[in-house]
Amino acid sequence: MTEPLILDGKLLASEIEADLKKRVAAVTERAGYKPALATVIVGENPASVTYVRMKGNACKRVGMNSHRIALPEETTTDELLNVIEKLNADRTVHGILLQHPVPPQIDEQRCFNAIAPEKDADGVNVTSFGAMSMKLEAFKGATPLSIMSILERFGIDVSGKEAVVIGRSPILGKPVAMLLLNADATVTVCHSKSKNLAEIVRRADIVVAAVGRARFVKADWIKEGAVLIDAGYNEGNVGDIDLENAAARSGAYTPVPGGVGPVTIMKLIEQTVISAERCVL
Ligand code: NAP
Repeated sequence: MTEPLILDGKLLASEIEADLKKRVAAVTERAGYKPALATVIVGENPASVTYVRMKGNACKRVGMNSHRIALPEETTTDELLNVIEKLNADRTVHGILLQHPVPPQIDEQRCFNAIAPEKDADGVNVTSFGAMSMKLEAFKGATPLSIMSILERFGIDVSGKEAVVIGRSPILGKPVAMLLLNADATVTVCHSKSKNLAEIVRRADIVVAAVGRARFVKADWIKEGAVLIDAGYNEGNVGDIDLENAAARSGAYTPVPGGVGPVTIMKLIEQTVISAERCVL
């Protein structure tokens, strides 16, 4: 069997970053100020703190501003909605990211939906989701978009393929299933109530794992030559697929780390830059 292709997310992220630097410079010159991403974090979940810091650092690398708004753990839905309204009205902010997850007392989807669609750089509100599903112009979820751009960049044709998505979260499983469907894949979406998961995955030409459980997808579930997209990121730097054993059976796979993650950050920034370009170019 031939060696599997490594779907190198770091490489793709660096290509996107180089392009964004030029676009940010053009917007800055035209507008007289830098495009900005506002990140809102509620509480101090260590993983979220790290993700928000990585997003802020990426903004700096491409020459953008990033505003970090850190709210206390006990923040209410109304307080968070207030912050979002202010950011919606702030003309110097082009993208708004509300870091998921928020503490349980907050109505997360209501807060996502309050983000103005033109600033919804992480594609989390229902207007963005509905438009994306109908193949209309919309900001898309950064992780689903990252997955689709990896497939495209490495020449993996999705049309007519059997794609199995494991996970149906609003930020990942569900939207990536819609994007794969819109790209003419035959899509099956699995979740915690699905039966015979191993058998369903064995049919797949493309497997997208978005479960949040370390090494959950086993090597013997994988059809020889399948494309493995591992969106999971768990403690110990491991994904949701047992890549150590499954990679050798695959035709191509995203490594963890260095696969979906770095491209996700760049897609968030790219959508913020698009929002800024619409304001000034
Ligand atoms: P989530 O909201 O917890 O959703 C997990 C999904 O997995 C749910 O739909 C759940 O089904 C399903 N599931 C749980 N146990 C299952 C089982 N035994 N069999 C089949 N399905 C099962 O997680 P998420 O936010 O989508 O994140 C998923 C993973 O992606 C995590 O590892 C996270 O760290 C990672 N992630 C990565 C990025 C990135 O950029 N790389 C971004 C976001 C998230 P039910 O709906 O039935 O509960």
